Amino acid sequence: MKPLSIKKLTEYSQAELIQGDPEQKITRIVHDSREVKAGDLFIALVGKNDDGHKYLGDVIAQKAGAVIVDSRLKLSFPAGLAVLKVDNTTAALQKIAHNYRQQFANLKVVAITGSAGKTTTKDLTAAVLAEKFEVLKTAGNYNNQIGLPLTLLQLTGKEDFAVLEMGMSGLGEIALLAEIACPEIGVITNVGAAHLEQLGSLANIAKAKAELLAALPVTGTGVLNYDNKYCRQLGDDFKHEIVSFGFETDLGLDIEALDYKPNQAGTGIEFSVKYQNKIAKLTLNKPGRHNVYNALAAVAVGLKAGLNLSQIRQGLKKASFSELRLEILETSGQVKLINDSYNANPLSMQAAINVLSQSSAERRIAVLGSMLELGEQSSAAHFKLGQYLAKQPLAFLVTLGKKAAVIGDGAVKAGFSAEKVLNFSVQKELIIYLKKYLKTGDLVLIKGSRENKMEKIAEALLEGQ
Ligand code: ATP
Ligand code: MG
Repeated sequence: MKPLSIKKLTEYSQAELIQGDPEQKITRIVHDSREVKAGDLFIALVGKNDDGHKYLGDVIAQKAGAVIVDSRLKLSFPAGLAVLKVDNTTAALQKIAHNYRQQFANLKVVAITGSAGKTTTKDLTAAVLAEKFEVLKTAGNYNNQIGLPLTLLQLTGKEDFAVLEMGMSGLGEIALLAEIACPEIGVITNVGAAHLEQLGSLANIAKAKAELLAALPVTGTGVLNYDNKYCRQLGDDFKHEIVSFGFETDLGLDIEALDYKPNQAGTGIEFSVKYQNKIAKLTLNKPGRHNVYNALAAVAVGLKAGLNLSQIRQGLKKASFSELRLEILETSGQVKLINDSYNANPLSMQAAINVLSQSSAERRIAVLGSMLELGEQSSAAHFKLGQYLAKQPLAFLVTLGKKAAVIGDGAVKAGFSAEKVLNFSVQKELIIYLKKYLKTGDLVLIKGSRENKMEKIAEALLEGQ
């Protein structure tokens, strides 16, 4: 962050400066009290599970230079500490981030949303743009109303682009994130059944994603996956520039993929991209046909930013990915793991299962936890996933927990042998079972929603006995 005076911070956050020197400079804003260093500004955020105000004592002991706190707080502070009071500390953080971002008139923000593939597309897009520009990208999955402002505060002024992931679980959330970040380019990877609990229907999910397009300026560009019918509809309704992408069809999209194939080792993919009658061969160091879409979005942003296809090819090759997304690993017993344990919804489950199905391993095994936040449609979605699985060449299916057991019911109902389905309610027992029955040459997909902590299974298998 470039230094900001207390005066500016007070103005940006519409705060009341209770005490402190307006000319004092702040170079870091921190919300985790454990990270506070001398001179930092600590902002006391109030979350569902915790309240930053509880840690003010620690923060003061760590010699914070300033704090932003709730105006209802009745506390006296040591002299020398700048104290800003606001009605809502989260909103204050967002206002500061927005105003700070506005300092950089030449900065272009690329915002990425969608039901699956946001983080991967963010990583790919940033890698492509980095071939020619200075780029800031969202770290990991910092995609919400707190993570996005904190990301913007990392701007130094040297960047040409910021590539930001925008997540949401309800209507209005993307609109807020876009209002803070003012994107010029809006990417929607797809619309699928994620966060159904809060949004109720796919049409509503599409509506929530449309908030990103609505927030773009007239000079802005929407980058949309036209193989997804909801995205296509959003694009058709959009008034400003659209760049469409998808696999090659007679319709002629702006950016098309062709000749897709997994690489020989099964660790990545190869495909060609067609743009204005030019064709370029691309490779990606991640498996799965769905990653073609993520790469096409990155290609679209790269072209829009003025890169040529050979620069884009280089950028994609160098991409570094966030962890726990389709990581290919191998145990000491030569069992291959596809560790996709970051999260799961029906769309991403299907994508990961396709990666498993396409491999040439002797035995393909799916180890699945539940998909959360699906509300009333939870049971039906798990059952449907099981029906999909029944058509796949799997040696067996192992599920964890009650909700995921329904995946097995769906599979058996659709003709998958009941003997090949196992459910465990305790993760430790599942691990013991896998350690006993997995053998050299097996390929195991490990996936489930975040709360399942499925990565612990991968870790245990990698540790061996
Ligand atoms: P989250 O909502 O958890 O932030 P995300 O949208 O950021 O997820 P990623 O982390 O990029 O998504 O990918 C998570 C998993 O979703 C991948 O490991 C893969 O299984 C699947 N996936 C990624 N891209 C796509 C895609 N374009 N279509 C369908 N599934 C995908
Ligand atoms: Mg993500």
